[in-house]
Amino acid sequence: MEEEPDDDTSPRTKRKALEKAKILQRERDRTIFRLVGRVLKKPEAERSKEEAAALLQHRETVDEVCKRQIRRTVLKRKQEEVFDDADELKEKVKHLAEAFREAKHLVVYTGAGISTAASIPDYRGPNGVWTQLQKGRTVSSSDLSKAEPTLTHMAIRTLQKEKLVKHVVSQNCDGLHLRSGLPRHALSELHGNMFIEVCTTCSPVREFVRLFDVTERTSLHRHATGRRCSHCGAELRDTIVHFGERGTLEQPLNWKGAAEAADEADVILCLGSSLKVLKKYACLWSMNRPANKRPKLYIVNLQWTPKDDLAALKIHGRCDDVISLLMEELKLQIPDYERAQDPIFSLATPLRPEEVNSHTREVLVSPEGQEDVSAETSEQLEEATSVQGGWFGRGYSKGRRRKGKKLYN
Ligand SMILES: [Zn+2]
Repeated sequence: MEEEPDDDTSPRTKRKALEKAKILQRERDRTIFRLVGRVLKKPEAERSKEEAAALLQHRETVDEVCKRQIRRTVLKRKQEEVFDDADELKEKVKHLAEAFREAKHLVVYTGAGISTAASIPDYRGPNGVWTQLQKGRTVSSSDLSKAEPTLTHMAIRTLQKEKLVKHVVSQNCDGLHLRSGLPRHALSELHGNMFIEVCTTCSPVREFVRLFDVTERTSLHRHATGRRCSHCGAELRDTIVHFGERGTLEQPLNWKGAAEAADEADVILCLGSSLKVLKKYACLWSMNRPANKRPKLYIVNLQWTPKDDLAALKIHGRCDDVISLLMEELKLQIPDYERAQDPIFSLATPLRPEEVNSHTREVLVSPEGQEDVSAETSEQLEEATSVQGGWFGRGYSKGRRRKGKKLYN
């Protein structure tokens, strides 16, 4: 077989020429795009004749640039935090209180916004974990397990006791609902609980509640906590459901409870959630019912949510502020959080002596003021201030293995 006689028309040369032409075209497009963008930024009166002509010549690009500008503006608006003024807030809360009194089956959905007062960072707020990570900043925070149930957590616990709230569905992993004393049958922690590790080899699944964040070594698709089941010896795993994962654990996720509550709900109150994730869980929104038979939706959030248009009422306020006003309206007291009443201390399984060094996270101090078996030294405490991954991440870079320190397993 002879080679192609003319190099200029060989398939390889043709392909190369084509690729080159494409690259050049892209470069031209980009230049036009930049030019149009620059001209559009100028007030019309200040544009030169050539610039005005360029806009006329590249109408499609002008349209595209305008569309992008609009998208940017909308996005920015959605991220802004909006506050209702005091009178408006009061008026809205009156409506909310009425909904509470009239509801037969009120369900509460909570997100990170209810825990920010407990110094747990939220995800998408201006200082949220996501926002920070997206800007390429490192996330640093005081130790997350130092957080205590907020006024909102304590109020929700009271509302459940008073039978005004039937069920709480939370996407928070901070365990604060449980620690407020909310009974587990009335709680679904859809994305897990940072204090709970489980043995899925045991049947039924065996739960170990701990007094520290068990997730320091776990991440997306990597759930082993480094400890082992005291009954069967299998590896324990955390209960956290990361983005892109499907949570199948019965507890603490309690999907069954969440779905049943949503089925019966006539009012749903969303507190401090962007709803960007929750909206994807179809069973929470009774979308199979005709629109007028769906639960009435009340949303408390500073930022835009994708359910705003469907809401009976959107309240722009901090959860603690709104809930204080609500409890006043309902003439209910909000109890202070008391460590001595925190159920986590009676639920917790102490670490076995050989497990004491299996973690470096701060341990919750029991009400008696005695620290449970703790792995801390002052050096570790210092390091704990920079949070390395864990339950709130998307499985981004995880805790470094410390030199000279063997992991437990
Ligand atoms: Zn086991």
